[in-house]
Amino acid sequence: MAKNTLTLRKFQDRFPTEESCLEHLKLVRFGERHECEKCGKDAQFYRVQKRRSYACEHCGHQLYPTAGTPFHRTRTSLRDWFYVMFLFCTTRNGVAAKEVERQIGVTYKTAWRMCHEIRKYMAIVDGDEPLGGPFKTVEIDETFIGGYRRNGMGGAGKTVVLGMREKKGNIVTRVVPSRKSGDLLPHIVDLVKPYSEVHTDTLRSYGGLATIKGYWHKQVDHSKEQYVCRDTGATVNGVEGFWAQLKRSINGTHIHVSHKHLPKYLGEFEFRHNRRHRPEMMISALMTSFAR
Ligand SMILES: [Zn+2]
Repeated sequence: MAKNTLTLRKFQDRFPTEESCLEHLKLVRFGERHECEKCGKDAQFYRVQKRRSYACEHCGHQLYPTAGTPFHRTRTSLRDWFYVMFLFCTTRNGVAAKEVERQIGVTYKTAWRMCHEIRKYMAIVDGDEPLGGPFKTVEIDETFIGGYRRNGMGGAGKTVVLGMREKKGNIVTRVVPSRKSGDLLPHIVDLVKPYSEVHTDTLRSYGGLATIKGYWHKQVDHSKEQYVCRDTGATVNGVEGFWAQLKRSINGTHIHVSHKHLPKYLGEFEFRHNRRHRPEMMISALMTSFAR
């Protein structure tokens, strides 16, 4: 194990009590002192007993460090929340609500809701920075998640997901209504910078790419059993690797993911994928990115 890896033991030593968790949230979100939003004075805030809050030294205005975080208005302890976030950062295949139920001793409903809130938060922290640009390559591919595949077309209950991945870089995904160009190209224009080299398979919907935003479009023909085009070097192997990992996890860990919740799972997997070279940064990103 790498020496900068944060072990569970070290993590729990860092947050031994509810108090230490709350203090952490207050510090990363508001600092030692800050301007009170009520009286406008530069103030220190003191702990209010029996509440998850601090009070302004001048006017007594109360500050709730959990407001706007996934933990607000929950009775689950902050230590348990932090622990489950740690689990999300140290797994490859995602975290099942059943597992959380077992490990921290909450109801399945509570466990499910915690996982759900953490996924939403991971997606926000991950963000969606546009990819590519001049001299950069972006692979673009789409896949079906859930349901049953018929002749390669979307069968009942299938969800189409579009993925864009910069070579050796980040991935961004979107749930889309169909594989028609009108449903794919606007997202590509939105998320892939002008003058990128773009690689796709030979799906006709991608045909218009060469004529927009200065993209340099190369295709790989999967029907010829090619995975890297011998002539142009075009490949979508990177995105396909992401799909494979995602599907293994959904099938293995979650059994079924509904259309409605899929974007949150995608956000979770993007978060981990986009930090795969610095896994030790995952939990610190989650612990310090709460919006003020
Ligand atoms: Zn005040």
